[in-house]
Amino acid sequence: MKVSNISSKKDLLKELEDFRERYSNLPFEAILKQDILRQGIQFDPASLQGKKFKKKDYFIFTFDHVALEEQSQSIRFQMPEEIRIKGGHWNLLPTIVSVRNNSNSPYIVKNHEDYLALFFETEKLADIELPPIPEYYRHSTKAGKSPGEIAPVIEWGYLIYLTVFRNCQYFGREEECAFCDINHNYRQQKNQGRPYTGVKSVSEILEVLSWIDKEDSTAKTYTITGGSVTKDLRGKSEMDFYYQYVQAIEERFPNRWLSKIVTQAWEKEDLLRFRDTGVKVYHPNYEIWDPRLFSLLCPGKERYIGREKWIRRILEAVDVFGHSCVIPNFVAGVELAKPHGFSSVSDAIDSTKEGIEFFMSHGVVPRFTTWCPEPFTTLAEFGEQTLPPLVYFLELLSSWKAIFESYRLPVPPGYGSHGPGQAVFSVSAFMDIIGYQASNPSKAK
Ligand code: SF4
Repeated sequence: MKVSNISSKKDLLKELEDFRERYSNLPFEAILKQDILRQGIQFDPASLQGKKFKKKDYFIFTFDHVALEEQSQSIRFQMPEEIRIKGGHWNLLPTIVSVRNNSNSPYIVKNHEDYLALFFETEKLADIELPPIPEYYRHSTKAGKSPGEIAPVIEWGYLIYLTVFRNCQYFGREEECAFCDINHNYRQQKNQGRPYTGVKSVSEILEVLSWIDKEDSTAKTYTITGGSVTKDLRGKSEMDFYYQYVQAIEERFPNRWLSKIVTQAWEKEDLLRFRDTGVKVYHPNYEIWDPRLFSLLCPGKERYIGREKWIRRILEAVDVFGHSCVIPNFVAGVELAKPHGFSSVSDAIDSTKEGIEFFMSHGVVPRFTTWCPEPFTTLAEFGEQTLPPLVYFLELLSSWKAIFESYRLPVPPGYGSHGPGQAVFSVSAFMDIIGYQASNPSKAK
């Protein structure tokens, strides 16, 4: 998919400086992080040679702007999962950012003297650290698989991401969410000859978790997730399928890590056994607030469950898991995607803000990830997409922060530390802004 609205290099610094002044309610680290997530990043291949670091495990989606087959051999499967930017031009606090490969991005990582740095053109912006390889990655399973294939970590080692079903039974443009590349990612990985397990077995998950249990003290949370199951999977219903993993993990390692599930919106009665077995946080992702866009961009969810029922189930899940422990995601920026999306940033923000306000008023804390226009999604079939402008994300962060603070909600659990210099959540800056106080409140929005 062609993408436009990449910042011109000469304008980038000025734009960032302007936003730094205008959005003093946000830490500047969050502003830069959102822009790197929005535009993606490229690497000079020499910058990665000879270095040891944790590479992208492609834990659920590609999160790349460029198809795997179009990536150069020196970069494909060589990029880090995340980078940590710090110091440099703006004396940044350490800030962790997920890596999305985009060979057109103005952000580029290169060697600088004897260390790595983030640049645009000849201007150095920040120093870079690469994520460490967890100790347990040295093992391999009885079936010869790497731990990063079965139980990878993201968020600088904090979150064990268990995509136990790497496909979705919502299939094709009539059912798949229009922005989602889970099925396309699976196909790309297989086409590249990667071992990429479609359905992970309970036993291989437990095998890898046993090493993490013994050898790792960084991971604090695990997520069980995967695609939707409309019929059955290996003879099990959707709920029974996902439940078997929670049950086995909590039986073997009770309360060892905080347990989260990312699934469809289920009825309260169905959620009780998950809670009683140890799940603490529930993510029934609603993706997009606007009713028209929900039905157009999430046709499978609309057809099989429906928006009204989805929302009712989210609200009722608070009775099961408690305030701030029901955390539906929305895909920030996709409200502006062509051809169905809003034509103005203010309309997109007004709509999503309404959703945030609605959920937070009921003790639900929606969070967001940053839309990445991957190449093989339904949206890619509509031709060139325009990246949402940075101002959209800054308005969204500002709205989210103001509403979150107005309801005095607790910090959502399962995301690690919060605040600038502390947050580990890497696919949006919502955790980076929690608790931030403007240095000059009179100028803050
Ligand atoms: S329900 Fe939608 S977002 Fe979730 S895996 Fe399926 S297609 Fe992707």
